[in-house]
Amino acid sequence: MSTYALIPAAGTGTRIAAGGPKQYLPLAGRPMLWHAVRAVCVPPVETVFVVHAPEDAVFATHDWSAFGEQLEPLYCGGETRRDSVFNGIIAAKDVVETDDWLLVHDAARPCLPRRDLDKLVRETRDDEVGGILALPVAETVKRAMNDRIESTEDRQHLWLAQTPQMFRAGLLAQALKRAKGTPTDEAAAVEQMGLKPRLVAGSRENLKVTWPEDLAIAESILKGRS
Ligand code: C5P
Repeated sequence: MSTYALIPAAGTGTRIAAGGPKQYLPLAGRPMLWHAVRAVCVPPVETVFVVHAPEDAVFATHDWSAFGEQLEPLYCGGETRRDSVFNGIIAAKDVVETDDWLLVHDAARPCLPRRDLDKLVRETRDDEVGGILALPVAETVKRAMNDRIESTEDRQHLWLAQTPQMFRAGLLAQALKRAKGTPTDEAAAVEQMGLKPRLVAGSRENLKVTWPEDLAIAESILKGRS
């Protein structure tokens, strides 16, 4: 049984308003996607598949030589994240077998610490269903309606889902194929099958770069490491 990573990178990143796809924003001297690839291009991961939009012409203009043949671009991104991940699994099926582990990681999470990845793999590799990195909610959570508080949620059982999300490739493909609505992560599709993925506590360093101010935070984390 082998372990692979897949990074859906076919989004446009409208919330960050960068005037181009978010995954290529410069961060500590490299495109953001480069850091996301580096974070998952470590043992036991054998190959990192990156799913691009079919018309993506930017990837080829950057230098990816640090990853050699371990990085495999696939030009089969779809309308939604779900479509991009599903298309990627299908495109990789000559290499990735049904029982292999697949770690799906956001291109927008360039600061994933190695210790978080190791912990996810350690705590999930014997799991029947699979697991995800996540953070227990620290703040008090409000439900809103038109910028007014409707109610206060009980945060005791609330977690923020992160990535990587680690599932067997066959199970994930089946879950994504059947998924109703537009699941915003892989676990949501697996949950629809009545399964309960494991939650593995990650760290705040693994932030998702979404808003303009997140870039400066991500940059200071990466620079602090090197
Ligand atoms: O839009 P959001 O920030 O939730 O995207 C999460 C990840 O999914 C990003 O890495 C993005 O590039 C990817 N994505 C994709 N195909 C889409 C939409 C998003 O690969 N159609």
